[in-house]
Order: sequence, then C-alpha cells, then structure tokens
Amino acid sequence: MRKTAVVTGASSGIGEATARRLAAEGFNVVAAARRRERLDKLADEVQGIRPVTLDVTSQESVDALVASLERCDVLVNDAGGALGLEPVASALLEDWQRMYDTNVLGSLRMTQALLPLLIGSGDGVLLMLTSTAGLTSYEGGGGYCAAKHAQTSMTETLRLELVGQPVRVVEIAPGMVRTEEFALTRFRGDATAAARVYEGVPDPLSADDVADAIVWSVTRPAHVNIDRLVIRPRAQAAQHKVHRV
Ligand code: NDP
Repeated sequence: MRKTAVVTGASSGIGEATARRLAAEGFNVVAAARRRERLDKLADEVQGIRPVTLDVTSQESVDALVASLERCDVLVNDAGGALGLEPVASALLEDWQRMYDTNVLGSLRMTQALLPLLIGSGDGVLLMLTSTAGLTSYEGGGGYCAAKHAQTSMTETLRLELVGQPVRVVEIAPGMVRTEEFALTRFRGDATAAARVYEGVPDPLSADDVADAIVWSVTRPAHVNIDRLVIRPRAQAAQHKVHRV
C-alpha cells in the first residue's frame, strides 16, 4: 500500500524539492500551496503528485484539503517564511502577524486537522520545517525568530503530548538555504538585497539538500524518532559565523 504524504509550501523551494523526492520514494504526494499553476506544472512533471490549492492561514482551506484525503502517513509543515529585516523598534506589526499566522498558526491548523489521520495510519510522521532562527536570535530577525521559536516550542510540546501514540514528531532546522524565493519574499521583491544574503558564501545549502534530510528522517523505521536535525552549509559554523570569499 502506497503511503500518502502531505507537503505544504510545495509550490517552490524546499517544499517542492521534498514533494519531488517523496514521490520518487513511492509516496502518493499531496502538494499544497496557494499558487495552483506552479503545483499543476509540478504534477505534470512528476508522477504520484496531486496538486491541491491551500492557504494555511485559512481554516476553511485547511479543512477542505483534509476532507479530500482518505489517509495521511506523513505531514510536512513547510509553508512559511520571513518578512522584513527591520529591527524590533521599527518592525511592522503586520509583518509579525503574517509570519506568526503562516509559520506558527498555519502549522497548528494543519497539525490539528491531520493528527487523527496520522495517528490512524498506525505509523504517522509529523514534520516541522523550523529553522536555526528557531534556536538563536539575530539582529533584524525579531519577528521571524519569534515565529520559528514558537514553532520549535510547539514541536517539542507535541512530542511530549503524543508519547505513546503511533506518531513521530520530527523537527528539521536548516541554516542558510539558497532558494529562489525565500530572501526575495523577505525583501519584498528587492533582488539586490536578496542576493546579498548569499554573497560570497561558497556553497549555501540547496532546497534539495534539505529535502534529502527530510525524506531520510521520515523513512526511518517506525521506532526511530529524529527529534531535531540541524543542517547548515559547511561555510556557516553558527548563525553569525559565515565564511564569505
Ligand atoms: P519559499 O519562499 O521558496 O517557499 C515558501 C513556500 O510556502 C511557498 O511554496 C509558498 O507557496 C508557501 N506558502 C507561503 N504562505 C503560504 C500560505 N499562506 N499557505 C500555503 N502555502 C504558503 O521558501 P523556502 O523553500 O526557502 O522555505 C520553506 C520553509 O523553510 C519555510 O518555512 C522557511 O521559513 C523555512 N526555512 C528556510 C530557510 C532558507 O534559508 N531558505 C532556512 C530555514 C528554514 P505559495 O506562495 O504558492 O502559497
């Protein structure tokens, strides 16, 4: 019996790479995000992928996705991202609200809605794509770090609350990953500012590097729980310690 994996944020970056890799591993993949045309293209290209329009900030949208599922073995909560790099003193409230709504409450909505199916599968895996920003703070990262810290905390809490149930709770916390859109979204479409993030860094992680770690984590034997996997490029020894040439 083919297992079903739901991947949010599957229209780009890490989510898309994860959907591709899970399909290659033989999963039926439900690829979910807001931009349907990108999901349709992905599904045309890769066998085993079903595109579903999803906005994780809408309970209605989450419920509609869940109602369309017969089973769910793996949930990858990837949808999210950062907005702005302003200091706390001048950050925009609406940016903080959006980051919290997407990264934290979006993951909560998906988790609440899918837990019954995950547990019912007999060996469910709930995976949270957090960030090293969920472990350490940095200047300008206030709202994003706060949201990712919240997501990390939710993950730890879930693992405690669900012990004894047939579901694993996995956290993947990447450092610097060069994806097409992450920094562009953060800097509101300013390509120069976005490029500066990765300037001189010999080899940031790629979306596929993280997808590889995700797929490895969710395909371990049922009794093996990868609590948290921190993954950074070799050039990044710590949040602030980045080698640039
Ligand atoms: P992308 O910007 O490429 O991907 C973000 C994805 O989230 C998109 O597919 C987007 O699709 C989706 N998304 C955003 N808002 C919503 C929403 N309301 N409902 C449904 N889907 C939504 O970034 P990455 O692939 O780089 O990042 C993916 C995850 O990894 C994020 O959670 C990010 O915080 C985390 N991360 C990224 C790192 C990096 O350096 N790139 C490092 C560590 C963690 P659409 O717009 O079509 O809805």
